[in-house]
Amino acid sequence: MARYTGSVCKLCRREKQKLFLKGAKCHSEKCPIEKRNYPPGQHGLSRRAKFSEYGVQLREKQKVKRVYGILETQFRNYFEKANRQKGVTGENLIKLLERRLDNVVYRLGFAPSRKAARQLVLHGHFMINGSKVTIPSYSVAPGDIVGVVDSSKKLDVIHNSLRRSKDSLYDWLQVEKATLSGTFLQVPNREDIPLNANEQLIVELYSK
Ligand code: SF4
Repeated sequence: MARYTGSVCKLCRREKQKLFLKGAKCHSEKCPIEKRNYPPGQHGLSRRAKFSEYGVQLREKQKVKRVYGILETQFRNYFEKANRQKGVTGENLIKLLERRLDNVVYRLGFAPSRKAARQLVLHGHFMINGSKVTIPSYSVAPGDIVGVVDSSKKLDVIHNSLRRSKDSLYDWLQVEKATLSGTFLQVPNREDIPLNANEQLIVELYSK
């Protein structure tokens, strides 16, 4: 599947906020946003862009896509699915994104970023309820146990990430660092998901 391969820090600068796409660097002084919080490019600093209503909606969609590392077609598919579900479409969308296996691996602390989590999943380092799963978009269900496969339990990238991660960051996840596993307890409420985005703008954009 196609994916973005350019500089991810430029994506944050484009949105003028930290999207936390690079792991440890995002929490250090080396994060470019700390020094250059303006869009990349020759005129990034001088240009004061005034966005139209459409432009604001578009930027919000781009931002959420970038946070979760998803390209347009797949993102649109998530929106269509969210729209078919009962409840508030925007909230449904964010909840669907949160259930992705790469996101859950990242939130559990097994990977320093969603991008790294995606790679680890693709390379077969994780299982769900005892069965190996190599699909980053796999939708994790309440009660599912996400674990590291036995042959990958010594991987430095996983242990280094776990060492840096804090315990019990999210109410809907339970991490067992000793056994390198974690349980997805429930689908989180939107207000509990740490995502600085106004998903209603995305709904308005796609509803035009
Ligand atoms: Fe974004 Fe992280 Fe790069 Fe900072 S270091 S600009 S938060 S990806």
